[in-house]
Amino acid sequence: MRVVFIGPPGAGKGTQSQRLLKYLNVPHISTGDLLREAVKARTREGLLAEQYMNEGKLAPDPIIIELVGKRLEKPDCLHGCLLDGFPRTLGQARALDDYLYDRGIPLDGVLELKVDEEVLIKRLAGRGRTDDEPEIIHQRFAAYREQTEPLLEYYQEQGLLETIDGVGAADEVFERIRTALDRLEDRAWQH
Ligand code: ADP
Repeated sequence: MRVVFIGPPGAGKGTQSQRLLKYLNVPHISTGDLLREAVKARTREGLLAEQYMNEGKLAPDPIIIELVGKRLEKPDCLHGCLLDGFPRTLGQARALDDYLYDRGIPLDGVLELKVDEEVLIKRLAGRGRTDDEPEIIHQRFAAYREQTEPLLEYYQEQGLLETIDGVGAADEVFERIRTALDRLEDRAWQH
């Protein structure tokens, strides 16, 4: 399956994506991880993205699209992948659609992990990553609301969106994800 995983900072996407990967048996494409690797390796993309990441802002679309495009070309992505943290803007979503359309491969669905912002702020306070400072968190939420939330409607209109309540024990949340995946699979069969 080819699935996009969307959620605000702290929603539990990291924990759930680990389970999802095992369950789906597909490679993980996390733009956050790819960018952190690129920063460490001092690649062109890393150097370009670093400042944005430190400020909690989204890196420019062309850098991200380039990074993901290269990753998607690798043969392990042929039969599916979990796209985690990508797309995050309408520009990225359209680029992904074009990419898949050109290759005649479908997107099976989009999972939105939904958690209220109040709960998220409390969760993030205990995490200690450098971009988890209160001011930067605030910026990351703003980026999510302004740039990423519009994607939900975009995918809803395509009949691809499944929204999952992210509050509860990790096992419970994963059970909801599995149910949502079943629904997506049923829908894919009908097409
Ligand atoms: P989180 O989901 O917790 O905000 P990530 O690890 O997914 O964190 O991303 C960390 C940072 O990397 C983001 O704040 C942003 O600067 C950058 N980033 C990751 N994915 C994207 C993307 N698809 N588009 C633009 N910037 C991104």
